[in-house]
Amino acid sequence: MSEQQPESVARVWEEVVATARRSAADGLVVGTSGNVSARAGDLVLVTPSGVPYDRLGPRDTVGVDLDGRQVIGDLRPTSELPLHLAVYRETGAAAVVHTHAVHATAVSTLLPEVPLVHYAAAILGGPVRTAPYARYGTPELADAMLAALRDRTGCLLANHGTVTYGDTLDQAYERTAQLEWLCRLWLTADSVPGRTPALLSEAQLAEVTEALRTYGQPG
Ligand SMILES: [Zn+2]
Repeated sequence: MSEQQPESVARVWEEVVATARRSAADGLVVGTSGNVSARAGDLVLVTPSGVPYDRLGPRDTVGVDLDGRQVIGDLRPTSELPLHLAVYRETGAAAVVHTHAVHATAVSTLLPEVPLVHYAAAILGGPVRTAPYARYGTPELADAMLAALRDRTGCLLANHGTVTYGDTLDQAYERTAQLEWLCRLWLTADSVPGRTPALLSEAQLAEVTEALRTYGQPG
């Protein structure tokens, strides 16, 4: 079934694999712990469960419909597929990246929201929330994630990791990288003995959000 695929599916799959490999190369995931997906028309292409990213090729394409029924490939989709599908059903996302990035996951065990230590939070739509813990692969986790994602393009999953989405795989990936950096920044600043990091106000962040809307790239 996966031998003759439309060109768009082949192209999107290449991007999914490239993004998954990039997340491993950049240290955002270890082994096969993260997963990446993207829309190809009515389908969602998603990394399979338990296959190292450097071994993924065109024959390993995994495609499901929005109800999770597998329509392309023989490999089993990631066990975290419910997270990805929930994002596609509830938002206009074209791509979703999920990782267990270490600094972001560390913060997910400490706080219900990532402190506003930097205006880069505007890239994610505001202060990033932590979804309460639920076991991976469950509808409870998907629901908690959707609540945490309200008006945001990313969230933390308590004692688990990160989820971000975007209009493209590059955008979703960039948001994960920024979220991990933001968490690393907070942990670094907060680790200085006897000192407490100064935080931006919601008003200061709103000002940045407005500037990004008007002027484009962050400074
Ligand atoms: Zn996970």
